[in-house]
Amino acid sequence: MKILVIEDTNSSLKILCHHIEKMGIKAIPASAGVVGVDLFVTETPDLILLDIVLPDIDGFEVARRIRQLERPGDWTPIIFLTALNKDEDLEKGIAAGGDDYLHKPVSDVVLGAKIRAMQRIIQMRQSMLVLTRKLDTANHELKRLASLDGLTGIANRRHFDEVLDREWRRAMRQGTELSVLMCDVDFFKQYNDTYGHLEGDECLRQISKALTTVLDRGGDLIARYGGEEFAAVLPETSLGGALFVAERMKQAIAQLGLANTGSAFGHVTASFGIASAVPTPAQNPPEGGQGEAGALPESGPLSLVKAADRALYEAKDQGRNRVCRTSSLDTTVN
Ligand code: GH3
Ligand code: MG
Ligand code: MG
Ligand code: MG
Repeated sequence: MKILVIEDTNSSLKILCHHIEKMGIKAIPASAGVVGVDLFVTETPDLILLDIVLPDIDGFEVARRIRQLERPGDWTPIIFLTALNKDEDLEKGIAAGGDDYLHKPVSDVVLGAKIRAMQRIIQMRQSMLVLTRKLDTANHELKRLASLDGLTGIANRRHFDEVLDREWRRAMRQGTELSVLMCDVDFFKQYNDTYGHLEGDECLRQISKALTTVLDRGGDLIARYGGEEFAAVLPETSLGGALFVAERMKQAIAQLGLANTGSAFGHVTASFGIASAVPTPAQNPPEGGQGEAGALPESGPLSLVKAADRALYEAKDQGRNRVCRTSSLDTTVN
C-alpha cells in the first residue's frame, strides 16, 4: 500500500509520513497542490491525505483535479485534513470529491484506525470489482449460449431473427440487396425411421457443419431454423449470389455421402428456397419493431422469409434435392 500525503507544513508532513511508515506503509510526501496531483498520476497511491490550505491550489481544487484524472470505475480514497473549528471546510471537502476527514493535529492512533478502516473499504470494493467482472463474463457467456442451437452449435432461430432484422434495416439504409435462404432436409422422417433418432441428430450436426463451411463472408449467418430446417441471412447478396451459395450448400450435403435408403435419391439431400430484396420503407413493419415474444412482425424481414419459404415448397413440389427462387417478395416462384 502507498499513501500520498499532501501537506505544506513541513513538521506535520514529517510526522504524518513517520506514522505511516511505522505502520509498514509507503508514504509519498508532497508539500504543494500541483506537485500532489503530479505524484497522484506517477505514483498511483492507494489513499490520499490532503490538507486544505496549500501554497498554490487549495485542497478542494486538488481533490477535483484528482477525481477528473481518475479513469472511469477507478477510485482512490481522499481523507481531508481539517482544522477542528472548520465544519464548512469538511462539507466543502466532501463535495469536492473527498471521502473522509481527520482533525488536525492528527494523533497516530486515530490516523492508524482511519487507514485500517479505509483499507477495509478498498478491499471490499476490490472484491466487488472482481465479482462484477466475473458476472460480466458469465452474462456474456449466457448471452452467447442463448443465441446458439443446443444440438448443432450453430445459431438458433432467435439469433437468426435478430440478425435478419438488423440486416434488413442496414440494407434499407444502404440501398443494398439482402437475400434469405431456407433449407429443408429431404425425406428426413424416413432417415430417423431407418437409422434411429440419435443417428438423425448426428446427421443434422454434419449438415450444419457442411452448411457453415460454405459461408465464407463475415456478414453471412447460418442458423437452425427448426427441426431439420436451416436458414441463412446473406447481406449484400443478389438472387444470383444466393443461388450460387445454395448450389454449393446442396453439393456440400451431397459430398457428406450419408446414405438414406428411405430417400428417392438413396442418400441425404436437401431442398432450398431463396429470395432477395432491396428493402424499402414501404415494406417495413409498423412502429414498435418486433412483435410478441420477439417474433418478427408480419411485414418487413418476415416477408423475405415467407418468400424464401414459398420457393422451398416449390423445390419440394418439383421433386426435392434442388434450389428454387423468388425474384420479388410479392411474385410467385420462378
Ligand atoms: P420432406 O422431404 O418433405 O422434407 O420430408 P421430411 O420427412 O424431411 O419432412 P417431415 O416434416 O415429414 O419430417 C421431418 C422430420 O424431422 C420429422 C422429425 O422427427 C425430424 N426431426 C426434427 N427435428 C429433429 C431432431 O432434432 N433430431 C432428429 N433426429 N430428427 C428431427
Ligand atoms: Mg496547510
Ligand atoms: Mg421440414
Ligand atoms: Mg424435410
